[in-house]
Amino acid sequence: MDIQCTDKEKSILATIARVAHELAVPCYLIGGFVRDKLIHRTTKDMDIVCMGDGIALAHAVANAFQPRPVVAFFKTFGTAQIKWEDLEIEFVGARKESYSHHSRKPEVAPGNIADDQNRRDFTINALAISLNQQDYGQLVDPFNGLQDLQDKIIRTPLEPARTFSDDPLRMMRAIRFAAQLGYTIVPETFDAIRNNVDRIGIVSQERITDELNKIMLCNRPSVGWDLLFRSGLLQKIFPQMVDLYGAAYIDGIGHKDNFYHTLQVLDNISVHTQDLWLRWAALLHDIGKPPTKKFEEGHGWTFHGHEVVGARMVPKIFARLKLPLNDRMKFVQKLVLLHLRPISLTKDNITDSALRRLLFDAGEDIDSLMMLCEADITSKNKVKVKRYLQNFEMVRERLQSVEDADRIRNWQPPITGEMIMTTFGLTPGRQVGIIKDAIREAILDGIIPNEYAAAHRFMLEKGAELNLRAVE
Ligand code: ATP
Ligand code: MG
Repeated sequence: MDIQCTDKEKSILATIARVAHELAVPCYLIGGFVRDKLIHRTTKDMDIVCMGDGIALAHAVANAFQPRPVVAFFKTFGTAQIKWEDLEIEFVGARKESYSHHSRKPEVAPGNIADDQNRRDFTINALAISLNQQDYGQLVDPFNGLQDLQDKIIRTPLEPARTFSDDPLRMMRAIRFAAQLGYTIVPETFDAIRNNVDRIGIVSQERITDELNKIMLCNRPSVGWDLLFRSGLLQKIFPQMVDLYGAAYIDGIGHKDNFYHTLQVLDNISVHTQDLWLRWAALLHDIGKPPTKKFEEGHGWTFHGHEVVGARMVPKIFARLKLPLNDRMKFVQKLVLLHLRPISLTKDNITDSALRRLLFDAGEDIDSLMMLCEADITSKNKVKVKRYLQNFEMVRERLQSVEDADRIRNWQPPITGEMIMTTFGLTPGRQVGIIKDAIREAILDGIIPNEYAAAHRFMLEKGAELNLRAVE
C-alpha cells in the first residue's frame, strides 16, 4: 500500500519493523495514522499494534534510537509511548475486548490482528498496514475501510448498536469525525446512535468535552452541533442549547430559530478565527434568549436582557461541561454580555462618548467583540446584510479614530488613587473613590482629554467641591 510517508517516518517504521522482527513479534501500523495518510491529512501520532508485549517492543525500539527516548508506559493498560521529535508513537499488544454494561472499560485478553481490528470504532479507523517482513507495507482491511474513505462514510465494523452500547464515547467520536472530515454517518450507524443516547451517561464529562472542543475547532463546527442535535445526544449533554431550537408563532408572528442562527454565527466566526474561546463565545452569545423570551402585544417577540441573563449562565455551563473556570470563562462571559453593544452603535446620532464607553468596557477584547458582532449579522435578506455590514464598518472606523485620539482601550487612569491621597493628605476611603470615578467619567464623556495635566486640574476642582484642600 502506498501511503506517502516522509523520509523520517519511513526510517522510523523500518526501525520498528526490524526490531519487531528480531523479537519475533508481528506488528502493524494501525488506526488514525493510516487513515490520515490515506486522505493526505497531517498526522503526528502513530499507533503500533503487536502480537505480543507492546511495552517490551517499545523499550526495544527506544534502544534503537539515538539519543534513547524516554518510554512512558502504563502497565495496567499494556500501552507504551515514545516521543520522537514531533511524533508520538504508541505501542500496544493486540487485544480482544469484552464489555460489561456499566462501564466503558472492557475486560481485555490478548488477541490477533483481526481481534484488534474488531474492537476499533469505525471501518476507517480499523485499517492496518503490515510491518512484517513477508508482506511489509500491505494494507489489512477486513471491513472495506479504504472504500469507505473514498465514499466518505462513517460506519462501525461490527453491529453498530453493540459498538455504541459497549463504549458510548464512540457516538461522540462518530459525530466529531463526520464534522472534522466532512463525512456522512451511514443511516444504520446514525440510527444506532439515536437509540443509544441514554448510554452517554457512563462517559466522563472530560471525554465528552474533549470531543466538543474538537468539533468546535472544525472548519464548520455547525455540522457537528447539528448532528448532536439530530441524534438526540445534545438533549442529554447540553439541554440549554436545545432550548434555542425552534421558532414560536403567535398571531402569525414568528421569531427566528435561534439554534440555527447560533450555528450560523459560529460558522461565520470560524472563517475568521481559530480561537477556541471566541468560538465558544459565538456558540453561547444568545444562550439567554429562551429564558427571556416574551410575546408583547403590539411589539412581537422580545428577548430583553438576554445578554445579561446569558452572561450569568456562562459559569454554570462551563462548570457543567468541565470547561476551565478561569480567565477564558471570563472572556466568554464578557463577550456574551457585550455582544449587542457594537451593533447598537450603528444607529444615527451616536456620540464619541458612547464609543469611548465601549472601548473602556471591552478593553483589550474589543477586536474579538467586533468580530463576534459582525458574525452575528445573519439574515436571509442579502440587501439587509449588506447594509448592516456597511454601517458596521463605519462603527469600526469611528472606534479607531476615537481610540487614536483618546487611547481608551488599555486605559490606565492618568491620576492614580495614590496621587489623589498624597494631594489631599487622605487615607484610603470613599472620597478617593469618588474623585477617581469622577475623573474616569469626565474622560469617557469627553469633558476632559485623557491626559495628566487636564486630569490633575479636574482632580483639584473635584476636591474643592468636596471641601478638600491640597496639602502640597
Ligand atoms: P485523533 O487522533 O484525530 O483523535 P484517532 O482516530 O487517531 O483520531 P485516537 O484517539 O488517537 O483517535 O485513537 C487511535 C485509534 O484507536 C483510532 O483510530 C481507533 O482505531 C482506536 N480508537 C480510539 N478510541 C476508540 C474507541 N473509543 N473505541 C474503539 N476504537 C478506538
Ligand atoms: Mg490519533
